[in-house]
Amino acid sequence: MSNGDGRVAGKVAVVSGASSGIGRATFELLGREGAKVVGTARREELLKEGLEEVERHGGEGIVVAADLEQSGTAEKVVQAALDQYGWVDILVCNAGVGWKYGEEHPGTMAALHEVSLENWQDVIGGVDLQGYFELMRAVLPSMIEAESGAIVNISSMAGVTGLYDAHPYTAAKGAIVNLGRSLAITYGKQGIRTNTVCPGFIDTAMIAPVIGAFDDPDTAAALVPMKRPGKPEEIAAAVLFLASDDASYVNGSTLVVDGGCTSRSFAG
Ligand code: NAP
Repeated sequence: MSNGDGRVAGKVAVVSGASSGIGRATFELLGREGAKVVGTARREELLKEGLEEVERHGGEGIVVAADLEQSGTAEKVVQAALDQYGWVDILVCNAGVGWKYGEEHPGTMAALHEVSLENWQDVIGGVDLQGYFELMRAVLPSMIEAESGAIVNISSMAGVTGLYDAHPYTAAKGAIVNLGRSLAITYGKQGIRTNTVCPGFIDTAMIAPVIGAFDDPDTAAALVPMKRPGKPEEIAAAVLFLASDDASYVNGSTLVVDGGCTSRSFAG
């Protein structure tokens, strides 16, 4: 692993869901590329592991162990970044729940007629949508004051295409895509860029219950033209681009990173 090329050198980046999967890979990559990284999630030990990796490559940061379902967490995380570094340049909203959560909370990843109001609120009013809203709302005042900032939201290919089930999840992910466009219009005028990354199947804990499907080559080919799931690092690379000055004129875009999954009408 390299120490990076300093593509976000000197910037302060807040990353939610930094303890595992896509968020962890993003936290480490932004840190290696010179950002002062502020990682948050509930599992402190894993956050500290990620920070040690960043430090091993000469980077720096802090971690804030907190539950985004608790009120006040978003403000607490942003305040920790402001207290430590004075400003926030980059916000990556990534913390989310999916199929693994669905196993533990039956109904949350179901088709609409099987979704209780409680299931709906668990996903929409939990980390998957409200968590993004709260983090963006918490970070915007300081970005507006600085007249500068880059927000990168992790949606999903399920934010731009439908699924047979997981309807609260698809609603949350679709909302993130369109909210990103709206923020791009409103805050682009103030130098704040908002963009969205839509991952396809990425090999993380979140989709552990379904990743086994890729073990069969025919199924893998039917699922994704590239015949494999993506790696968290492949999403982190897209986030790095959108967060960096390389994307200085990219605002309101939706970058699908899915191995071609959503590009075709039929498997074949
Ligand atoms: P993951 O490895 O399970 O990571 C999820 C992260 O969210 C963890 O760091 C987890 O940390 C954090 N999190 C969950 N609930 C939280 C809470 N209440 N408070 C604070 N943090 C919380 O899954 P992932 O695949 O990397 O998912 C990251 C994002 O990518 C999600 O938004 C997901 O919807 C999206 N995505 C994933 C895929 C995929 O195939 N993997 C595809 C499309 C989109 P703690 O448990 O430590 O709190």
